[in-house]
Amino acid sequence: NNLWIAPSCSLLHSPQDLAVEEKLDAEIKSWMAFAAQKLVELGVVKQALAHGKDSVKEAIAASDAAAADRATNKKIHNEAVQKRVADLPEGADQRKSPFAERIKAQQAWMNLPVLPTTTIGSFPQTTEIRQARAAFKKGELSAADYDAAMKKEIAYCVEVQEKLELDVPVHGEAERNDMVEYFGEQLAGYCFTQFGWVQSYGSRCVKPPIIFGDVSRPEPMTVYWSSYAQTLTKRPMKGMLTGPVTMFKWSFVRDDVPLSVVAKQIALALNDEVLDLEKAGIKVIQIDEPAIREAMPLKKAQWDEYLAWACESFRLSSTGAEDSTQIHTHMCYSEFNDILPAIASMDADVITIETSRSDMELLTAFGDFKYPNDIGPGVYDIHSPRVPTAAEVEKLLRKAMEVVPVERLWVNPDCGLKTRGWKETVEQLEVMMEVTKKLRAELAAK
Ligand code: GLN
Ligand code: ZN
Repeated sequence: NNLWIAPSCSLLHSPQDLAVEEKLDAEIKSWMAFAAQKLVELGVVKQALAHGKDSVKEAIAASDAAAADRATNKKIHNEAVQKRVADLPEGADQRKSPFAERIKAQQAWMNLPVLPTTTIGSFPQTTEIRQARAAFKKGELSAADYDAAMKKEIAYCVEVQEKLELDVPVHGEAERNDMVEYFGEQLAGYCFTQFGWVQSYGSRCVKPPIIFGDVSRPEPMTVYWSSYAQTLTKRPMKGMLTGPVTMFKWSFVRDDVPLSVVAKQIALALNDEVLDLEKAGIKVIQIDEPAIREAMPLKKAQWDEYLAWACESFRLSSTGAEDSTQIHTHMCYSEFNDILPAIASMDADVITIETSRSDMELLTAFGDFKYPNDIGPGVYDIHSPRVPTAAEVEKLLRKAMEVVPVERLWVNPDCGLKTRGWKETVEQLEVMMEVTKKLRAELAAK
């Protein structure tokens, strides 16, 4: 009489009702439960406790059948993918040479000035871009017209960067709705809901993709757009990917294999993309990992194990890349101080981080730790439309020059620019370039 039963936690983070999903594959649907379905299951448990297991025979049998099917179904289980992860040879996650040698091979062809400049990837996602995508999805805009519209955006974005003389341009990510969804839509093992919204924080809601099965990459995902962007400039175009941890952390993830396996599968899919980009002549590639800190287990005792496979997965995604191919990574604001050895073990040639809002405080930690590879501390806050003064940017950059050897220092904003408008974006980057050129001249005169 005193026994209460309830779900193990709030339903706040479950999507509401699986029954309203019209486009999900019926089999995949049979393996899932959203909030409404979980409550029906709770009712089954109650019934079983109150009236005996026999009274819910059918519900239990249906559940057992779904679980048995899920354990073997070919939609989930891809032997080739599983084998590829299981058979990874010793050292598969290591670049060909250590950073000191790689950076020489990279500098030999990139010919960058001191304090090279770049951005984090996205440029303004304007209303026109979002309208074009919505019209394309509704079938109101043809594939050819959508393609042309995106190319026009990319061309404009590259032209702006040419004028600014940014050393390592990007294509601007106009074709991406979201940095996880864009890749999820092209990877096997991912599916999407129509109405699976959940609260993310405050009044913000997201509709995370679902990783239901083994992940692989049927076709190149970014080569088309990055190659097009590269035809528009002689400067090295930076390709842009989302890293394995961020790819699973911002999705709903299957619970029938360890997260480390999911991460490695995604890493190998990304690795296919890295090698295809390289083949297509894109030899600077950024693999964003903003969620690496967020995915840390709550219990400190589990950190080392997590960081080992998370960083291994990151390294796996660029395995086999030539020494001369420059791998970047980017992380948003995070408390990194206690995990710096792990961040360094990711062995990206260049890391860009948020540092402007904290007045370079984080950078001091990287400096004290003697972070071994190239580093680009953000020199202005992209979260505000405000254009910083040259004096402010100069102060931050000079601070950075005190803690990072100048030959390893990059100059960039502190995150992607997609939430900004074009006007302030250009003005902000102009200030960044003006200050960089001033300090370059000063260094040359020394
Ligand atoms: N490349 C992404 C962008 O520029 C990175 C976003 C992020 O750090 N969250 O938008
Ligand atoms: Zn960021």
